[in-house]
Amino acid sequence: MLKITKFGGSSVASASQFQKVKGIIESDPARRFVVVSAAGRKDAKDNKITDLLYLCHAHIEYHVDYVPLFRMIEERFLEIKQELQLATPIEGELRQLEERLPELSLDELVSRGEYFTAKLMADYLGFPFVDARDVISMRYDGSFNYEDTSERLKTILARHQHFVMPGFYGSTPDGHIRVMTRGGSDITGSILARCLNADVYENWTDVSGFLMADPRIVKNPKNIQRITYEELRELSYMGASVLHEDAIFPIRKRNIPIHILNTNRPQDPGTIIMDAIENDPVDSLITGIAGKKDFVAVEIYQKHMSNAVGVIRKTLSVFEKYNVSVEHIPSGIDSFSVIVQGSDVRSNIYEIIAEIKETVKPDSIRLVEGIALIATVGRNMSARPGTSGRLFAALGNSGVNIRMIAQGSDEINIIVGVENKDFEKAISIIYHNFIQEDSHETA
Ligand code: ASP
Repeated sequence: MLKITKFGGSSVASASQFQKVKGIIESDPARRFVVVSAAGRKDAKDNKITDLLYLCHAHIEYHVDYVPLFRMIEERFLEIKQELQLATPIEGELRQLEERLPELSLDELVSRGEYFTAKLMADYLGFPFVDARDVISMRYDGSFNYEDTSERLKTILARHQHFVMPGFYGSTPDGHIRVMTRGGSDITGSILARCLNADVYENWTDVSGFLMADPRIVKNPKNIQRITYEELRELSYMGASVLHEDAIFPIRKRNIPIHILNTNRPQDPGTIIMDAIENDPVDSLITGIAGKKDFVAVEIYQKHMSNAVGVIRKTLSVFEKYNVSVEHIPSGIDSFSVIVQGSDVRSNIYEIIAEIKETVKPDSIRLVEGIALIATVGRNMSARPGTSGRLFAALGNSGVNIRMIAQGSDEINIIVGVENKDFEKAISIIYHNFIQEDSHETA
């Protein structure tokens, strides 16, 4: 059994968090390869090291005194070192870093958060430190070279049975450090899981996996125990985010499970994410509910449109011209709506409408603002008649007006559009209708 264990920023934010990590690693010998993020916030007033490093770079660029900021960063690492009485001589490296600051690339500078956190963690766990610069191979376009990474790992495995590696960065063929997008340590863990053919990729955070609904809307929502990559994609697109979206890609085809766990509550079951769930116990029809407010619908009506050709294409090309991504296009016989995110068209919606009027010449065009979209997602919904009926009836009986309906062809989600003001109410109604009634079936 081999597990890749990745710890997020809050799991490594202080000496006491380091102690929890050690407990977790030592409780299971399969946890041999550890990836860490940079130390995150200790409390609400504190700052993430990575944010401070980005800020430090901005200070240097704009010739503002960056030394106090650098001291703050240094302090955070030294505090952890002293509290845990570690021997790793990071002071010398920090001094060298300070001297090189003005000439360092942004990528190299911000990668140092993960670098020093991993150095300290390696010392504390008694594992060797392996630098991501020497392992994670990135192409100039930012994509990952898995073959090269696997080759490099083979050499390292010949020497080490355990290691701690910094997340978030790798290097390009010229040896320069390249960082991933924010939250990228999740991707590092996933790359290692793929290249080392791990049985499980454990992603330790500060939440016990995914909840079936937003706890600010539904009181004590249930935990999602198992979810497919596809379902997760639908839910995270709508706002539920715990894991970096791209962390799925390296391991998707291999069906390596990602287990989301809580460093502060290791006893909680967490959430397991997989490509396909075998022997899927149908514990609940729905897996989760998520949504977002503030969408905008441009409703277009044209007599006999059903016989006209090209109306939708011409309308969409206007949105394309303004570089606006279209979310949904619900349609009737002689009308259709184009739904987009309000923030995408805030500055130019009236120009877009004017241009549609000119090019498409519809009989009427109407702008409806303040629409919320809610996705009810569940792999067990597909091919189960009655699910949407139940959902619409529940909303209708509670007086929530549904403005639009969409369903993906894979039938794993039903999206409804409601008015912003009904958003929380609708989520709560759907949740209670599907979850509490089913609670006797749920493990
Ligand atoms: N430290 C980086 C960030 O804050 C990467 C990570 O935490 O995964 O975005």
